Amino acid sequence: MLDLAWGARTDVGRRRSRNEDAYVARPPVFAVADGMGGHDRGDVAAAMAIESLATFETGPVRRSDLLAAIRRGHDTITELAVAEGASMGTTLCGVASTDGDEPGALLVFNIGDSRVYRLRRGSFAQMTHDHSVVQELLDDGSIAPAQARSHPERHVVTRSLGAGGHLDIDWWTVEPETGDRYLICSDGLVKEVDVATIATIIESDRAPQELADELVAASLEAGGNDNITVVVVEIRRATPGKSSNLVEVETNPRDISGPTTPSGARGPAEPVVVAHLTSKEVNP
Ligand code: MN
Repeated sequence: MLDLAWGARTDVGRRRSRNEDAYVARPPVFAVADGMGGHDRGDVAAAMAIESLATFETGPVRRSDLLAAIRRGHDTITELAVAEGASMGTTLCGVASTDGDEPGALLVFNIGDSRVYRLRRGSFAQMTHDHSVVQELLDDGSIAPAQARSHPERHVVTRSLGAGGHLDIDWWTVEPETGDRYLICSDGLVKEVDVATIATIIESDRAPQELADELVAASLEAGGNDNITVVVVEIRRATPGKSSNLVEVETNPRDISGPTTPSGARGPAEPVVVAHLTSKEVNP
């Protein structure tokens, strides 16, 4: 079992009357859900998605069980939406310690535009790929990164739990290293605080709870236009002596629930490094 330390914080922000984000932060699952703005009951959808993951106890969890739980959450939200004639949905992303499959393994999963980042040996990188209209426009070169922040459809996601139909889950199995820090957050952080600032905070020599507190404070200071949720997980000790046969990026089509994984090299094997830090920059 991985030796982990973690911290978490959520805040309604300065503009919204309700917090439609939800999270779980305790082994073996760390996840953030962002109920859809503009949907009728985003807070309910986010809570249901998290509830589906919060049932796991501290012991080993299997990847297939975790993915099945996400799908159950999707089905439950969809059923409620149909029953109530309401429109609701939520993003969901996070990391889970899947010792049930491989000692020390970490599962990274994502649906929507909440994000998982990783700090490893001074490199801060986004692990997940957003499922959003803006990301698709960026991918095909229709817009430049500078245009993304102000794009009128910047809040529109292309995948979510609760939208009905088939659920595509991006997931990867990664091998954590001692000292890694994983940041799981809703867009209320990344749409307010630039990534270099986030990286600097994550790199600083403080406990995960302090890091989560500071990231939320930074987002509030920058405007707090959305709900903000931050979960920070630190690998205090990776499983020692583990064999290196774990595939860093796994796109296994044989999973019982039939995962859809991103094609191409967008997985953690080649994460998009968004900031390189040095101790000099961090502690001048
Ligand atoms: Mn949001």
